[in-house]
Amino acid sequence: MTSRKYKSYTLRNYKKIKQLTVISEEDYKAIEVVGNVLPFKTNNYVIEELIDWDNYRNDPIFHLTFPQREMLKEEHYKTVENALQDGLSGDDLFKICNNIRVELNPHPAGQQCLNVPMYKNERMNGVQHKYRETVLFFPTSGQTCHAYCTFCFRWPQFVGDKRLKFAGKESRDLAHYLIEHQEVTDLLFTGGDPMTMNYKVFRKYLDPILKVIDKTNIQTIRIGTKSLSFWPYRFTSADDAQDMLGLFKTIVNKGLNLAIMAHFNHPVELSTTVVKDAIKNIIATGAQIRTQSPIFKHINDDPDVWAEMWRKQVNLNCIPYYMFMARDTGAKDYFELPIVQAYDIFREAYSKVSGICRTVRGPSMSCTPGKIMISGIAELNGEKVFALRFIQGRNPDWVAMPFFAKYDEEASWMSDLKPAFSDKFFFEDQMEEIYNQKYSDCEEDKFE
Ligand SMILES: *Cc1c(COP(=O)(O)O)cnc(C)c1O
Ligand code: SF4
Repeated sequence: MTSRKYKSYTLRNYKKIKQLTVISEEDYKAIEVVGNVLPFKTNNYVIEELIDWDNYRNDPIFHLTFPQREMLKEEHYKTVENALQDGLSGDDLFKICNNIRVELNPHPAGQQCLNVPMYKNERMNGVQHKYRETVLFFPTSGQTCHAYCTFCFRWPQFVGDKRLKFAGKESRDLAHYLIEHQEVTDLLFTGGDPMTMNYKVFRKYLDPILKVIDKTNIQTIRIGTKSLSFWPYRFTSADDAQDMLGLFKTIVNKGLNLAIMAHFNHPVELSTTVVKDAIKNIIATGAQIRTQSPIFKHINDDPDVWAEMWRKQVNLNCIPYYMFMARDTGAKDYFELPIVQAYDIFREAYSKVSGICRTVRGPSMSCTPGKIMISGIAELNGEKVFALRFIQGRNPDWVAMPFFAKYDEEASWMSDLKPAFSDKFFFEDQMEEIYNQKYSDCEEDKFE
């Protein structure tokens, strides 16, 4: 098989997009203006095989990877537009754009402080441990993606401010941490996209952990990736595809569960021959593929899209896992749906598919106390309420406990919700305690 050459398009060479596509003057301009604030990157596979240019204004993948004018507030857009017109560049331009970024809540849900574990009295950068069973690892070399999603809450990692990065230097410390923390059963490689690393680099991160795996209690290794959507050749014709697939087999043969946590936002991402081949190759190694996606305006705010996506995934032997609510960060206003609408879309899509597809959980909000799922809208004692439950909790005792919030048509995140039948949510006092004990130096919002 000849391998397809990867060509990325960023602010550095975005001018080529004009020659390659039928993009309008206005949309073309938005790339430069918005792209200086929110990171922009797309590639030849996305442009040639996923976006339908005949109808690109309404195309979900166009909105997924191309900056849109409305992603910035009008005043912000104007500020950057003027700065560019005045010929600003380098540090001057960076400063202006960074001031805007800071206003866009770059670190939602206590990521930078509350979740970072300690090892030998030092904060372990590049590692997050929020839920008892699962440790997240952000290898430094995986802090990029084959293209960037315009909605991504990890966006501060991709723009040029080093302080905002979770730099994960070595996995040796992590290996020790996992030995000391026998409660941890799952290790999740995340990013960015760890599958942007080549085989050799990925092994550098994985080997120290595999070496001590018998001394840890790790049973599942998860790899969070959007490569199946943005560059499926990673698992078919890439130079090191066979090596990577061989490594998957090795992991499985050690008796571990290998779960590829694949990020798909729309059924079109499952439609090409190469993605189908890539999925087959991964499953043939004995790994599982579980799927997840946020729900967004302009991309997938339609029950038929979700029902089709889940059904297609199951037909390809993937397991639907999560539907997420849009995080409170970046271009959230452009993408966010009220809880009521997201729940309606979920329920309608869920009711259209068979039980085999109903492994999916959601819609779920990843907020500081935990992953909170909207399980329904109900009327109790004559009061309309949201029924909620924790899928994951910072305190494991909170998991699967039903609780209620006042119905609110406008609410789009946990922080908008007020408790029903009580003046506090049941976990608020304990959350306050956790926060005060360990994290009083954090500036992050406790209940975000
Ligand atoms: C979602 C998530 C996990 C994994 O939760 P599961 O329910 O086991 O899939 C782990 N850590 C963090 C910080 C998460 O957001
Ligand atoms: S692939 Fe994932 S980490 Fe990368 S930009 Fe998209 S959502 Fe963010």
